[in-house]
Amino acid sequence: VLRYLLASHHPPYARAIGVPLSLRELAAPRLMEGDRAAGAVALTFDDGPHPEGTPEILDLLAAHGVHATFFLVGEQVRRRPELVRRMLAEGHSVALHGFIHRVQLLRSRAQMDADLTRGIAAIEDAAGVTPRWLRAPMGIFSPAALEFARSHDLQPILWSKWGCDWRRYTTPERIRRRVVTGLRAGDVVLLHDSDFYGGKGSYRNTAAALEPILAMVGAAGLATVRFAHSLT
Ligand SMILES: [Zn+2]
Repeated sequence: VLRYLLASHHPPYARAIGVPLSLRELAAPRLMEGDRAAGAVALTFDDGPHPEGTPEILDLLAAHGVHATFFLVGEQVRRRPELVRRMLAEGHSVALHGFIHRVQLLRSRAQMDADLTRGIAAIEDAAGVTPRWLRAPMGIFSPAALEFARSHDLQPILWSKWGCDWRRYTTPERIRRRVVTGLRAGDVVLLHDSDFYGGKGSYRNTAAALEPILAMVGAAGLATVRFAHSLT
């Protein structure tokens, strides 16, 4: 159980359960056509769509011509499918974070199968795209979820850099520093466009940190890439 709980914090545990943390560990990075993995980082945003946070992040990404991947929560997709369509219309990728935001290890296999099935259907219904990437809530995968992923062409993925931007008491500067310190090619960066499962209004800090993060990514000569909607 420890390996599953701590996989996002301890790379050997992530390896032991077969979940990559970065593009460097993916056999084939499977990016959108035109994206090249070498010299690039993947920006990812979890927990949306959110009525305020998501548009704010989408506006910033558009202003900088940057594409990202959004790990969506099915119950939020059902409430705001138009934001998922906007993500796709603006060239971003969508992926699955679960139908509800609950620790997978606390749920039965039947509950997990139903959750992931519903999450996939929510995204398909909203935008006509089948998600091919899966990130567990809190970064804690369960064996049942990983088995479901294997049998449903879902690639599990965690992250190699995070801003801890969901915290109630943090600052844009702290978020920026956590993300850019030691940032290198192949990193998968975790941020949040939503405060549904974090500190209230946390996406405002994320939005304020995003511009300096993008500036630093550019200054380091790194490109940004999105995950593909197909694994083949
Ligand atoms: Zn989350």
